[in-house]
Amino acid sequence: MPEILEAEQARVLIEQRALGRTIAGVDAPDAWYLKRGLTPRAVKRALTGRELEQARRRGKQLLVDTDRTGPVLGMHLGMSGRVVIDDEAAGDPLVYASNRDVTEWHRFSLRFADGGRLALRDPRRLGAVELDPDEDRLGVDAMELTLAQLRAVVARSRAPVKAVLMNQERIAGLGNLLVDETLWRSGVAPDRPAASLDAAEQVAVHRAVRTTLRTLGRRGGSHTGDLMVARVPGGCCPRDGSPLVRATVGGRTTYWCRLHQR
Ligand SMILES: [Zn+2]
Repeated sequence: MPEILEAEQARVLIEQRALGRTIAGVDAPDAWYLKRGLTPRAVKRALTGRELEQARRRGKQLLVDTDRTGPVLGMHLGMSGRVVIDDEAAGDPLVYASNRDVTEWHRFSLRFADGGRLALRDPRRLGAVELDPDEDRLGVDAMELTLAQLRAVVARSRAPVKAVLMNQERIAGLGNLLVDETLWRSGVAPDRPAASLDAAEQVAVHRAVRTTLRTLGRRGGSHTGDLMVARVPGGCCPRDGSPLVRATVGGRTTYWCRLHQR
């Protein structure tokens, strides 16, 4: 499932391949995919003739600025979406079911005047397209997260620390795999109440967020963590060999080690 690292790969692809290209047409065959009252007709009218000027991102939300007074195109990858430009797709082809190029999965496409296209390919149809999304509904971007910001977020919540780290309104971009990897690296159990973390544990979690994003970003995505191999029934901790706990925390299937995660 796309998390901040996959959204960043898509942002980079847009930056490298789509900026400065003129939109000659918009295909929005799936009206359900358009959010906040946007219609296929309105999105065509708003984007046709414009150029893509800048590719930004906040958490998992892609934000593409268009020229002059044009709208911001917001795209969300959902559970299985990938951005495809011409014939190149962002993300690791081995782990996405959406690797196959099935036209029905193109929920939204921009046709460029030069003959190429940008498509959002999404088999599970849980992504979204909107114009001028409310960027401030999202918390601080996980890649920019400071220790002070992390402290402020965890200190005021009795919810499990995993749920707090995954709350997009607090910290934008971390999903299930990245949070499990982060907590495993920091030695903190995911079901601990967030506010119970002491200062040293807050530092450890903050450091682990940064290390996890940097390391897994370099390796190629959120599925490349050290804990990943052990995310199976009967899996053991790659650090100490202890059997992992598998339980639902914050509504998501969670793996952790009772020996070194306290
Ligand atoms: Zn362990």
